[in-house]
Amino acid sequence: MLSAFRVATRSRGFATNAAVPGLTGAIGNTPLIYLKGLSEKSGTQIFGKAEFQNPGGSVKDRAALGLVLDAEEQGLIKPGGTVVEGTAGNTGIGLAHVCRARGYKCVIYMPDTQSQEKIDLLRMLGADVRPVAAVAFENPRNYNHQAREYAESLDNAIWTDQFDNVANANAHYISTGPEIWEQAEGKLDGFICSTGTGGTLAGVGKYLKEKSGGKTQIWLADPPGSVLTSYISSGGKLVERSGSSITEGIGQGRITNNLGTFVNDLTGAFTVPDEKSIAMVYDLLDTEGLYLGASSALNVVAAVELAQKLGKGSRVATVLCDGAYRYQSRLFSKKWLASKGLEGAIPAHLKKYAVL
Ligand code: PMP
Repeated sequence: MLSAFRVATRSRGFATNAAVPGLTGAIGNTPLIYLKGLSEKSGTQIFGKAEFQNPGGSVKDRAALGLVLDAEEQGLIKPGGTVVEGTAGNTGIGLAHVCRARGYKCVIYMPDTQSQEKIDLLRMLGADVRPVAAVAFENPRNYNHQAREYAESLDNAIWTDQFDNVANANAHYISTGPEIWEQAEGKLDGFICSTGTGGTLAGVGKYLKEKSGGKTQIWLADPPGSVLTSYISSGGKLVERSGSSITEGIGQGRITNNLGTFVNDLTGAFTVPDEKSIAMVYDLLDTEGLYLGASSALNVVAAVELAQKLGKGSRVATVLCDGAYRYQSRLFSKKWLASKGLEGAIPAHLKKYAVL
């Protein structure tokens, strides 16, 4: 997939300002931003990979492209075919863009609890959106199973299966990982991020670990309601999911194929409470001018905590997964935050930003 990815994107392992080949050419090669204000405040060096700059607006563009290129390379899909996925969020938006650009039909199954804005955006990007009743994964009518069954019923169609198809983590191993290493000039004490599918953490983590000869520690950050922190700190016990978080797109109840055995290579994991993630959404805006979603904010909280653990001046990178645009009616609404018991999480001097 490496050469196909390099041909299709601008992630070529070196900087170039030349024209890029179509929309997928604008995927990857995002800046690594040194978060100056937060670094100075914390006495560390924090770097954020600006994945919100991908054309679909999130880190999932890379996974979407990787999943499609891998299927093409294996001969599983031919021009004019159909890509089917069960997803409520960024992966669907990434796939809809990639399908449009590469001439595939895109069918998205999603729980009917999702916002109208997301449905409208996917439809504007040409996807055939099928909202279905929001039932648990164990139920055969769950949106993921419906996506798989529908793909199986068609000729020339694939179910991309972002959670368990490792083409997702591979896309990060061949693009996000090398970019971060090069941009950080090969000097990184730690890398930490949260996981949904685990593709970003495992792909980037594996590359950085190999490249640094094990010197770069790789950590996982969890939202409340995810089981991974307890799995890692208990040495492999999977507990029932309990609790919840206002963060979207992250948190997990099982070890996906994308996380796989990489989970054993992590140095550690910890949970970040929603109060800290919300406070960081506002702090990033105020200190860095960055308008980011809650998973990015959680990642930055975790990066600062890890860097402080690793010692003064240590260098830690994380991922700025997407912008706040998709969540602004929630994150910047005092009323919504109050309905989640989180109004007090906005630092007093930053309340002026809660304008909705
Ligand atoms: N942040 C957001 C906003 C996301 O949508 C996702 C993907 N669901 C992630 C983080 C986590 O990425 P990954 O699936 O690679 O673990």
